[in-house]
Amino acid sequence: MTDFAATRAMFHIPEGVIYLDGNSLGPLPRGAEARVAQMMRDEWGGMLVTGWNRAGWMAKPAKVGERIGRLIGAEPGTVVMGDTLSIKVYQALAAAIRMRPDRRVILSDTGNFPSDLYMAEGLVGLLGDGYELRTVAPEDVEDAIDETVACTLITEVDYRTGRLHDMRRITETAHSAGALTVWDLAHSAGALPVDLAGAGADFAVGCTYKYLNSGPGGPAFIYVAPRHAETAEPALSGWLGHESPFAFEQHYRPGRGIERMRVGTPAIIQLAALEAAMDVWDMTTMEDIRAKSMALTNRFIAGVEAACPALELASPRDAAARGSQVSFRHPEGYAIMQALIARKVIGDFRAPDILRFGVTPLYIGEAEIDAAVETLAEVMDNRLWDDPAYRTRAAVT
Ligand SMILES: *Cc1c(COP(=O)(O)O)cnc(C)c1O
Repeated sequence: MTDFAATRAMFHIPEGVIYLDGNSLGPLPRGAEARVAQMMRDEWGGMLVTGWNRAGWMAKPAKVGERIGRLIGAEPGTVVMGDTLSIKVYQALAAAIRMRPDRRVILSDTGNFPSDLYMAEGLVGLLGDGYELRTVAPEDVEDAIDETVACTLITEVDYRTGRLHDMRRITETAHSAGALTVWDLAHSAGALPVDLAGAGADFAVGCTYKYLNSGPGGPAFIYVAPRHAETAEPALSGWLGHESPFAFEQHYRPGRGIERMRVGTPAIIQLAALEAAMDVWDMTTMEDIRAKSMALTNRFIAGVEAACPALELASPRDAAARGSQVSFRHPEGYAIMQALIARKVIGDFRAPDILRFGVTPLYIGEAEIDAAVETLAEVMDNRLWDDPAYRTRAAVT
């Protein structure tokens, strides 16, 4: 069994704060602070450009990818780090639709994160030629997969509601219709067990600054199934995805396997933070995380429903049907969340009316859940949210 007091001690959480927004930005791992300082001083400072070889910087994207791969059921050598998630979505989509040249549809759902949909729109706009992004309601995805679909673009856990798609079943349905799958694991990696290999997923992408705690702007990852590794064409054909970057050839040739999904110079400082952040995963298992996450989200729902009848549950009631977050609706959601944050319970707000709470067992336990419920009840009972100061929207909600 995981020692969750020990995992909690790995993080810097400000005194008195109950942090229920690790699904948006994970807190600072103490080890990352030390590792980044050491990397800057000894490697960047001490080695200068020779760090690319001597400190192994150039190999980091695949090396760190390997550690992420273990959390998401990826085969060895199938995950590489780089860029941001939006870029990785584009890259995976472009590769997938080139593998189905006689089809024109990217299928997604209306609950998907806007950036995923925007990137798909940009891609189909660029391609012209009848390419189309088709979106259906989340519960209709499976039925909408037909012979026109080149690939699906589905985020496994809905960022607003926490609704969980069935990766194995959708992948099977897609394959039986001859389509490929691109899975976005933004709210899955580090949140719940994922089995990419077992599900037969084709491509997957995700970010690391949410449940994987790499810090703001930390690098994203991309997975390509081994069977596609030597055939997927990287549309973003940057020099570090070239078979031989330092031959400085005039024309692009894709690199071997997953290396071809690299684009340009990796963000080494952020990779150092991520590498240190990954250490906590050696102290637990995704099964332990999932069991505790389900118990804590159930406890939170029960507590809020008992104490705050005005809040309407927006997440699936069945723990097995949701990720590691709980959302509630209220027309004054924004002001309520600001009032909560002012009282050191940090969640976030997603338009139009969603109060979102991420539940992260690495550093959240029953005591924090109960205290958060109590503060929320106090805010609701006394209309503490009803204050003009809480109605002014900040740039980031
Ligand atoms: C958080 C998130 C993003 C953000 O993309 P960035 O390029 O990292 O800003 C994209 N898609 C989904 C599904 C997300 O949850």
